[in-house]
Amino acid sequence: MKAFQVRAPHEFSIEEVAVPTLAPGEVRVGVAYAGICGSDMHIIHGQNAFVRFPRVTGHEFAGVVRELGAGVSGLAVGDPVCVDPVIACGSCYPCRIGRPNVCSRLQVLGVHRDGGFSEEVCVPAANAHRLPPGLPLAQAALVEPYSIALNVLERMQFLPGDSLLIYGAGVIGLTLVQMARALGIADITVTDVLDDRLATARTLGATRTLNGRETNVEAALREATGGEGVPLIVDAACHPALLPEIVRLASPAGRIGLLGFSATPSELVQLEIIKKELTLVGSRLNNGRFPRVIELLAAGKLDAAALISHQVASQEMPGAIELIERHPEQTRKVLVQWGGNV
Ligand code: MN
Repeated sequence: MKAFQVRAPHEFSIEEVAVPTLAPGEVRVGVAYAGICGSDMHIIHGQNAFVRFPRVTGHEFAGVVRELGAGVSGLAVGDPVCVDPVIACGSCYPCRIGRPNVCSRLQVLGVHRDGGFSEEVCVPAANAHRLPPGLPLAQAALVEPYSIALNVLERMQFLPGDSLLIYGAGVIGLTLVQMARALGIADITVTDVLDDRLATARTLGATRTLNGRETNVEAALREATGGEGVPLIVDAACHPALLPEIVRLASPAGRIGLLGFSATPSELVQLEIIKKELTLVGSRLNNGRFPRVIELLAAGKLDAAALISHQVASQEMPGAIELIERHPEQTRKVLVQWGGNV
């Protein structure tokens, strides 16, 4: 079968690879669509410490069940599914307290094991979520990025009346805008340095946008909030230099959600955190958020189609990667078609 394989940093291509063998408790999924994520780009550039090469990447995908492994019940051949990439051991400390997404022996499809940029992939049956009738598979490939947004907002213990500031209007920033609206958050500010992306954020429901290159974001929001600051701030720009400003801008009792994977230190002032009793939370992948995202998507509360900028055939995937690198302003979510009952 065909798969997108990264053999080493900067070495990738569509390859003919062996069809994966189906283990007990797993299902074989014929992949229909898989989304290219910023973290796939990091793997391609050798910037992911967890990945081992060669690797079939891709952790955002939907398709159709083709075969059931021994002992699988609750799914049938032909079921449309999307796949949660988080595989946890179930017995370590985080698993025991209900935090499997930070399992000590975490396996992420497309990172630690082969993922969705392939015609077929075998996944634990519990990771395959059956889709309701009528939900297009292309849109279902976006459940994973939406789960990132839902996970961080839940981690921040948002209240519907809270105002929200999002740093970054890339795909994750945009999923956050949609998710926040779907959850009843009405006052949403987005900051970025690209006007095109900010325009998209407004279309999707941001109530205020600020170009960080032209505007002093801190001063503007201090004024807009009467000096109080913002209760909910998510860093989806993921630049370590932003954190001091984020901490200054948070209101007393504010909650800050961090999504970046940088190893570069950030300078923090303890006083700012303690005097305002801020909560800083890291959010990694998602903790069982797929069912809720699927429900919101099926109810029309999330507009996945608006996030998809390109759909390409699998053989065009290397070209699509180049496009994302050269023209980030022209791309949102790029989906790769693998042919599984598209
Ligand atoms: Mn992703």
